[in-house]
Amino acid sequence: MERTLARDIPEREGKEVTLKGWADTRRDHGKLVFIDLRDRSGIVQVVLKEEITNAGEIRGEDVIEVRGIVKARPAGMVNEKLPHRLGYYEVQVTSFTFLNQIRGEGIPIPIQGDGYEVNEETRMLLRYLDLRRARLQKNLRHRANITQFIRNFLAERDFTEIETPILTKSTPEGARDYLVPSRIEKGWFYALPQSPQQYKQLLMVAGFERYFQIARCFRDEDTRGDRQPEFTQLDLEMSFVEREDVMALNEEVLIAIVEKLYPEKKIQEKPFPRLTYAEAMEKYSTDRPDLRNDKNDPNLLAFAWIVDFPFFEKTDKGGWTFTHNPFSAPKEEFMEDLLARKNIGDILTSQYDVILNGWEIGGGSIRNHTAEGLIAVLNIIGHKDPQGFKHMFDALARGAPPHGGIAWGLDRLVMILENEPNIREVIAFPKTGDGRDLMMRAPSEVVKEQLDELGLEIKKESAKKKNGK
Ligand code: ASP
Repeated sequence: MERTLARDIPEREGKEVTLKGWADTRRDHGKLVFIDLRDRSGIVQVVLKEEITNAGEIRGEDVIEVRGIVKARPAGMVNEKLPHRLGYYEVQVTSFTFLNQIRGEGIPIPIQGDGYEVNEETRMLLRYLDLRRARLQKNLRHRANITQFIRNFLAERDFTEIETPILTKSTPEGARDYLVPSRIEKGWFYALPQSPQQYKQLLMVAGFERYFQIARCFRDEDTRGDRQPEFTQLDLEMSFVEREDVMALNEEVLIAIVEKLYPEKKIQEKPFPRLTYAEAMEKYSTDRPDLRNDKNDPNLLAFAWIVDFPFFEKTDKGGWTFTHNPFSAPKEEFMEDLLARKNIGDILTSQYDVILNGWEIGGGSIRNHTAEGLIAVLNIIGHKDPQGFKHMFDALARGAPPHGGIAWGLDRLVMILENEPNIREVIAFPKTGDGRDLMMRAPSEVVKEQLDELGLEIKKESAKKKNGK
């Protein structure tokens, strides 16, 4: 018989249905066993008479199939809290089978609550169980709704979604690269992308004009609450635009996401207020101030743009480095100084950051679409290998349109919208603070043959390996 989902039960009153799912909780009332059967759509109560074969054996999280008749619950037994009016009905079971019975000790972590109280390492080790809890199911489904919404929104505005390589080349984006050894060219390495920055610019040179991607980025940094070694950006780039165009489009998408998917939330100020970097630093001593009027209100969203950042800052060694993105153009009025390499500390970049409740949730800029500008930036920061950018210089010299874009930290945005304390709560399989996937046991040793194949030798063993962890 065809499977019915829990959420469709209210339409089947009096009918026979087959349900498949997990035994969420079990209560015994003398001759009756009550099971909350959980599937992807919700939870429905099923009632088994004791004489039904094996009814007494069902344990929490067993995978079961039940067949039975949908009945309205007696008035006093209604549970108004369940969604889809599921608490008004129950299924009186005529037969049931185990699809997979829990073996051994049973489920080692509670999954009915929100799970904040459970040790996080244990949750990560058993993530496939942790993800069963309603809160994480909700977070990941809402996250999927957001990305689907973004895809539709941008596709309707003529953006093309394009994937870019994961095996690529080291580029200066401020963090350490993850490297992947080449087997064919021993001693050579790919780098995992810190962002698709160069590829998206090259897609503009290629004439796509409007690109986006839900892109995975990799940065080998020390992990913090809002950072992960791999994270997701909404990455986009547009041709023939100015700063205002990119900002306006992004503001429109952000407002639409909140208004369509989070109607209970309130955006404090529209259009988003703007602050220059200098104003933000003077008033709040940070370039991502929390501008909420009422910080106790979990549904208040204070978006703002921060603009006019200095392009360069001094390094400890007395040289210069970029503050945001070496591919950015300066604000127009500073182009002459950039090309002349003068008044370097005063040059302002076209960078714009979007902030929300004290977090930076995105940033982008108008790019140098001529080689001269990019060369000047690389000179100023004393980049060791400007020839490594020959493909960019060449591309920019071969009909690159004016262009600019942005990237959002998607994990962070979802975290804030879902009122979660850190991005691990909105990522299916996050890593620990020291960059490990406890469940998969990654990173891990590889066998000697694999190292030989790659022409590699380990000079220093990891402390964890030494300690036998
Ligand atoms: N690639 C930049 C970043 O990852 C964002 C951008 O300028 O588009 O921060």
